[in-house]
Amino acid sequence: MIPAVMPTYARSELAFERGEGAFLITADGERYLDFAAGIAVNALGHSHPHLVETLIKQGKKLWHTSNLYEIPEQTRLAERLVANSFADTVFFGNSGAEAGELAIKIVRKYHDDTGHPERYRVIGCQGAFHGRTLATLAAAGNEKYLKGYAPVVDGFDIVAFGNLNELRAAITPETAAIMVEPVQGEGGIRPASMEYLRGLRAVADEFGLLLVFDEVQCGMGRTGKLFAHEWAGVTPDVMMVAKGLGGGFPVGAVLATENAVQGFAPGAHGSTFGGNPLAMAIGNAVLDVMLAPGFLDDVDRNAHLLRAKLEDLAARYPAVISEIRGAGLILGMKCVVPNTELVNRLRKLKLLTVGAGDNVVRLVPPLTIGPAEIDQAVAAIDAACRTWSA
Ligand SMILES: *Cc1c(COP(=O)(O)O)cnc(C)c1O
Repeated sequence: MIPAVMPTYARSELAFERGEGAFLITADGERYLDFAAGIAVNALGHSHPHLVETLIKQGKKLWHTSNLYEIPEQTRLAERLVANSFADTVFFGNSGAEAGELAIKIVRKYHDDTGHPERYRVIGCQGAFHGRTLATLAAAGNEKYLKGYAPVVDGFDIVAFGNLNELRAAITPETAAIMVEPVQGEGGIRPASMEYLRGLRAVADEFGLLLVFDEVQCGMGRTGKLFAHEWAGVTPDVMMVAKGLGGGFPVGAVLATENAVQGFAPGAHGSTFGGNPLAMAIGNAVLDVMLAPGFLDDVDRNAHLLRAKLEDLAARYPAVISEIRGAGLILGMKCVVPNTELVNRLRKLKLLTVGAGDNVVRLVPPLTIGPAEIDQAVAAIDAACRTWSA
């Protein structure tokens, strides 16, 4: 008989009752160090005092009004994101995939508004992940996720990630945009090179395409800058964010330049829940913490510490881990052994991680971790690696 909860996930049998910082705690008090962080969502860890206080305060005042009315907290969050990014304007939704849908709508409408309705195709990359809606699945072209859901949404061309020549060759008079994750998450923690990101900007400019960065996973402080593309010194025209933005509350957003959304007017797009007062209060609270002086420097410092220790483990256990990859606190251990088996053994050692494509174990801890949590995680990985070499 089918379970009451539709069986779409391969879940572990663990269930948690509460969370404290970087730890998840079961009903019988077992503490797990959480280096999965709800798949890069709990950017400030669990039960962060400022988020809890904000939730309670706003929860007593107002949750939802719809976008029929002004929402001052929404305006404030948009203004703060604009002030701290390339963007001129922001649309709020509830998830990463929804942000991707709007990004695709924006690039199609941009060319329609500027006299080229024939330009509607988006070039995406192999190994990408943009969400589970029909169009975002098509934008990533992952056969595994598309299987059974034919016909695939038209308008997407998939090229090798990191290969500018192949990308240039795929451009036709119908191409509207390029959509790329600066650090591929789901696909196996594969960071784009700085030259590739700069090359994407140059190609987009040369051919009049819009450049879309999907920072749903790698954005919101995860690489040690608020947005991952900042490291490359280039900016996109459109950017998707979600995961870390709400710190565990569902919030997604599309950031865009004024040029990219020049044709947008009332009625062009909408969302019932998107940008509601409760979600926006929490988004603002997340920014309060992330934009505080020194926060991103701490992320950067701790990321280097973790990475150095992981590189050391990879050198000591080449039969288990072949490579450490990623940027900041979105790190991957490319495995020689099956990644799922390493995730399982780490879970038994009370360290939570999450698998990714390309046989990688993903480490996306709360951005608030410090040296003590790093040492504990590294000790667990060391112990797990030893179970293979013993
Ligand atoms: C998780 C993710 C998405 C989809 O986000 P949902 O909130 O699950 O819809 C899109 N892009 C990237 C890069 C992601 O990691």
